[in-house]
Amino acid sequence: MDLTGKTAIITAGASGIGRVTAERFTELGASVCLCDVADGALADVEKALPDALVLKADVSNSGDVANLYDAFSARFGRLDILVNNAGISGPTKHVEDVTDEEWDETMAVNVTGQFYMVRKAVPLFRQAGGGCIVNLSSVAGRVGMPMRAPYSTSKYAVRGLTDVLAVELGEINVRVNAILPGLVDGPRGQRVMSEQAAARGMSLEEFMPFFLHNISMHAMVSMREIADMAAFLASDMGRHISGQSISVCGNFETYRGPKF
Ligand code: NAD
Repeated sequence: MDLTGKTAIITAGASGIGRVTAERFTELGASVCLCDVADGALADVEKALPDALVLKADVSNSGDVANLYDAFSARFGRLDILVNNAGISGPTKHVEDVTDEEWDETMAVNVTGQFYMVRKAVPLFRQAGGGCIVNLSSVAGRVGMPMRAPYSTSKYAVRGLTDVLAVELGEINVRVNAILPGLVDGPRGQRVMSEQAAARGMSLEEFMPFFLHNISMHAMVSMREIADMAAFLASDMGRHISGQSISVCGNFETYRGPKF
């Protein structure tokens, strides 16, 4: 894989999957712009990736997104790749207990945020004669995830947006795909599993075998494996791949966990 000479915007790039993707893209030769909302993590990634353009921006705020694109255009001019990675996990609770604010916030970051980022990217892609968008969905966007109604619904919506964009932006030579990570080995995966266990009155140690039973490979995925899929799709190796929802999850087909 080679991203030499390409420019990329990666949202939520200061930690987790976004940060590993920013590092991987840099290694492969891309010039990277990343944004996040977490000040400490932003300062840290700025030191680790001195050539990257590191910006504070909340993807669910259209003013922040406009400022991000202004700063990006001033520095790089041309856009080749957008990785819509920002997404929050939302609450782990019964649907009847989900508040208006929890529902709205999850949709705002996970769905509206991707729309805001895409809307501003289109003129740049048109100018460049094409481009590539990678949207982070989740296996929870293919398999209904109990106790995660806002998150699971938002990740199905990401696949819908991906399908629409692949057709609409194909006209201007932009490829659009979604990655559906499974359970990722990292701080967030651990936190979500602890919440799922607690919601059932179980310890994490009791719950994990049930969850891993859903996965054919019986293991978590690494952040690097998600970053590699994003790089593959963004590179010329993926030049005939568009409109696809690609799971990187060890085959998570259906939820057969313990009831609650
Ligand atoms: P994470 O929870 O570790 O968060 C990564 C970063 O997102 C943090 O630095 C945070 O500050 C930033 N962020 C949060 N809200 C933001 C906003 N409004 N604007 C900009 N940045 C914001 O996330 P992660 O585990 O690295 O997940 C990345 C993506 O992958 C998400 O879309 C997530 O839904 C998806 N995903 C993750 C997993 C997993 O197990 N970790 C599984 C499936 C899908």
